[in-house]
Amino acid sequence: MRILIVEDEVSLADAITAILKKEQYFVDAVYDGRDGLDYALSGIYDLILLDIMLPKMNGIDVLREIRKNNISTPVMLLTAKSDVRDKITGLDCGADDYLTKPFNKGELLARIRALTRRKGEIPSNELVFGDLKLNQSTYNLSCGSLDMKLGAKEFGIMQMLMYVPGNIVSKDEFIEKIWGYESDAEYNSIEVYISFLRKKLSAIKSTVQIKASRGVGYYIEETKP
Ligand code: CA
Repeated sequence: MRILIVEDEVSLADAITAILKKEQYFVDAVYDGRDGLDYALSGIYDLILLDIMLPKMNGIDVLREIRKNNISTPVMLLTAKSDVRDKITGLDCGADDYLTKPFNKGELLARIRALTRRKGEIPSNELVFGDLKLNQSTYNLSCGSLDMKLGAKEFGIMQMLMYVPGNIVSKDEFIEKIWGYESDAEYNSIEVYISFLRKKLSAIKSTVQIKASRGVGYYIEETKP
């Protein structure tokens, strides 16, 4: 589950990031509307938390552009208490929910669960490549009748590889998406998780393998049985 936070109050963005990471969500945070729109248009997010008052482009305009581009990712607006009109405009423009600042951690998490559950009912919850299936709710990686549960970081890596089968995902991209921009994770952390994943792929007898592109990154490929 990958969540985008668009919030210019860096300390608030950091606090939400920490809460969500603790709950095993993958999180990207950006601090202005323009970046928010760029990231949202990638279509890779399961949920967007969007502040309304933002530099460069306000949240309502970001939301309009997201919907105009047919991105149906659930959007939860983060609003100040006084923005009643903004809330109404936001809901009219295709927001799915809103949360008034300051908010309680439990309420934030409950609303996120509600919004992502709704999305979870759409039957696109599984990534498929070759004989391999990755369930994005249960983190279950399966091949035929064999399956393995993945840890959060293993899942994140496998998900990124299966989004773009055959294409290289760079080590920097893994670190940014899974460990976060400010992380001090090193390349060898990725290598460790790749080796775990390779063992799991072989345990479930998949013909899909993770290949290394020396010095650049990794990609998945189906090998002939
Ligand atoms: Ca703001």
